Amino acid sequence: MKYSEQFRVEPGNEVRLNKINPDYTAEHTKKKSAVKQVKKLDAKLRELQYLLYAENKRSLLVCLQALDAAGKDGTINHVLGSMNPQGARVHGFKAPTKEEAEHDFLWRIEQQTPKKGEVVIFNRSQYEDVLVVRVHKLVPKEVWKGRYELINDFEKNLFENGTHILKFFLHISPEEQLIRFRQRLDDPARHWKISENDYTERDLWDDYISAYEEAIRKTSMKHAPWFIIPANNKWFRNLAVARIVAETLESLGMKFPEPTVNLKEIARKYHHAELEEEKKLGKSKWKRLTTEAKRGKGSKKDGETALKDEGIKQSDRATQHRKDAQISKAPRPRTQKRPTKQP
Ligand code: AMP
Ligand code: MG
Repeated sequence: MKYSEQFRVEPGNEVRLNKINPDYTAEHTKKKSAVKQVKKLDAKLRELQYLLYAENKRSLLVCLQALDAAGKDGTINHVLGSMNPQGARVHGFKAPTKEEAEHDFLWRIEQQTPKKGEVVIFNRSQYEDVLVVRVHKLVPKEVWKGRYELINDFEKNLFENGTHILKFFLHISPEEQLIRFRQRLDDPARHWKISENDYTERDLWDDYISAYEEAIRKTSMKHAPWFIIPANNKWFRNLAVARIVAETLESLGMKFPEPTVNLKEIARKYHHAELEEEKKLGKSKWKRLTTEAKRGKGSKKDGETALKDEGIKQSDRATQHRKDAQISKAPRPRTQKRPTKQP
């Protein structure tokens, strides 16, 4: 079964987080094999993101939500960190600044949504305004109650304008949270992650769970689904998120855009320039240079270098237009015959 189906919350379904086992690892019993799979998925994600960027037609928004220490940062690092920074971006939402607080709650969110071709990951999101805000009673109940619908309208609008939205709740147990708090205390490199609020927020665990349950139930939509990811095992969390993002991008049937130029005409110009170069350097030197350039990029076949330069392994999908682009294999046009000796 696809993970994008298995972990998805169907619209309107009741959500009972205490019925979902945060230790669940599906068919995976060993960390080692899962880590291997994540590596493969990372390469696939990179390739799919390259396609999304090249296609420049639609975008992807990933919202990550969780209680403290559930692994939002780790997920971003391990899973989505494989993407090319040209076309992928992370934005974290903290307590609103003075200026942000003077606007409606979606104002700051709207400014960070992805443009066409882009992947954006929200580390916390519009959902904080029905979570922390509700738990800490930062606005009256009537106000946060009205926000589910506002969020749904907002996401519908994004979707209709080409943004695919995936929302993940990383589900850990309170025991696992405490173990991770301890690791933070024990490891000086993690001290910066410790916050004054960690334990006050932990005391509000049940309130947060109720707030999450209602938010997920009211805002999981076909076009903007929530996924509840068992996250006590970091390796399974990484695997599940990577798989769902990859499955979603794959289902879009993306294609490289058709070339905007007349490739035959460009090939003609290329061969003209090549003849000039050959005249200047001599045919054998030019041949040596082009052979060396190919070897230098580690290319085995013509047309492979662009993807290799992007750190992407070849696959059929990623190379569908490769043949068109093989200018060096195009026959030299008749008009471009090597000039013969003048009479
Ligand atoms: P961290 O993600 O650990 O850097 O913490 C960010 C903090 O900002 C968390 O305590 C969030 O609950 C808080 N935060 C994010 N969005 C909002 C919001 N809209 N209103 C109040 N607090 C927020
Ligand atoms: Mg924190």
